[in-house]
Amino acid sequence: MSTEVTFASLNLAEPILRAIGDAGYTTPTPIQLKAIPQVLSGGDLLAGAQTGTGKTAGFTLPLLHLLSAKPIQAKAGQPRCLILTPTRELAAQVEESVKTYGKYLRLKSMVMFGGVNINPQIARLKKPLDILVATPGRLLDHVGQKTVDLSAVEILVLDEADRMLDMGFIRDIKKILALLPKQRQNLLFSATFSDEIKELADSLLNNPGFVEVARRNTASELVEQTLHLVPQSQKRDMMSHLIKANGWQQVLVFTRTKHGANRLAEKLVKDGIEAAAIHGNKSQGARTKALAQFKDGSLRVLVATDIAARGLDIDQMPQVVNFELPNVPEDYVHRIGRTGRAGSSGAAVSLVDAEEIKLLKGIERLIKREIPRVAVEGFVPPARIEAEAPRPPRPQNQQRRPQNQQQRQGQKSGQKPQARPAAEAPRKSGKPMSEAARHQAMPQAALFSPKPIHRGNRGH
Ligand code: AMP
Repeated sequence: MSTEVTFASLNLAEPILRAIGDAGYTTPTPIQLKAIPQVLSGGDLLAGAQTGTGKTAGFTLPLLHLLSAKPIQAKAGQPRCLILTPTRELAAQVEESVKTYGKYLRLKSMVMFGGVNINPQIARLKKPLDILVATPGRLLDHVGQKTVDLSAVEILVLDEADRMLDMGFIRDIKKILALLPKQRQNLLFSATFSDEIKELADSLLNNPGFVEVARRNTASELVEQTLHLVPQSQKRDMMSHLIKANGWQQVLVFTRTKHGANRLAEKLVKDGIEAAAIHGNKSQGARTKALAQFKDGSLRVLVATDIAARGLDIDQMPQVVNFELPNVPEDYVHRIGRTGRAGSSGAAVSLVDAEEIKLLKGIERLIKREIPRVAVEGFVPPARIEAEAPRPPRPQNQQRRPQNQQQRQGQKSGQKPQARPAAEAPRKSGKPMSEAARHQAMPQAALFSPKPIHRGNRGH
């Protein structure tokens, strides 16, 4: 007996199946197989799935089906379905999916997010609207200006709910929930389940179905991983060298800070390599342009912070580089998951400084393998760097007095002490932290974990 399940067997309407065919999909992904019937049944849903699993179609396809099965004359500024996302990029991509899968339907959609002029959004809201994809802050701006009316929402989707909480959107979300009709269908998608997410799910969802797909840690098996031990001060030079020596043509580079992303992109450009940085401080126009150029191959290197990269629909990258290791080991798996997707092979290289060895050990524990150290000619021999790594903590009575970080760095081969990148001390400027900086400075909740999840000090 064949166990192959098709989209048609999920009972989606014909115009939706046609659009799926046009998109070139033949088989539903596991999250789609599990989520679509649940959403079609009309009940609430709690879904555990990351970007890259096909989760967007997992909620978009059935909600298009439900809305089109109950045709109601679309009204201006009064959506029947509200999809909330944490970032602008994700909002844009989700609405793109709504348009792609709904192209043979009469449903009308729009996307709204901050950082761009509000007036075109106000103009669009004066026309009929069924599906609204929004980031919370800008949606509330519209609520304040009475340009949107949420009293007709039949279906609410919270996409990447964990990220929304990490970014401090909980109050905004609660304000928005209070504006929705009581009677509605709620779908909550999250890659991780912290206590906060569980609390939100409990208050939001009625007797929800639960679906979950295994987290995508297979990347660590598919992707060829290596690392170069290198002092922070030499990383930018090494980056230039690696790109040129290996002839990399399309590289996604992750930095920990926005400032670091800018500095690296500037350095690469100076060295004759087309590069751009993408992060929360860049205008929407600049981000969209950089992404488009990167996708079409005219931009060789895209330097991104985790938050900017999250949700970006850039798949099957041949090369990913961790310019700095992420603070949370799971983020390493997310990052390298950008390459080697869908069975294609990819490579991930990490540049690791002595200060990052502890992070490295955490990553190696998570992926259950040691990442091969590869020496690069002309750079400090790796053995020296590993030897200089801070030692793991000893039992209390044996603990040495910790050396001040700058002292330790100053001792390294006469190197001058380095300033730490900006986002590590984001409040020094006296300005409030931006959404993105706040996120970057915050620990990410652990992925699905049988262990109790530690809740970071969120401070808001
Ligand atoms: P998502 O997890 O929603 O960000 O989707 C990840 C990627 O998978 C997107 O590029 C989708 O276009 C693609 N995708 C979604 N569903 C399918 C499917 N059933 N078959 C093949 N690709 C898909």
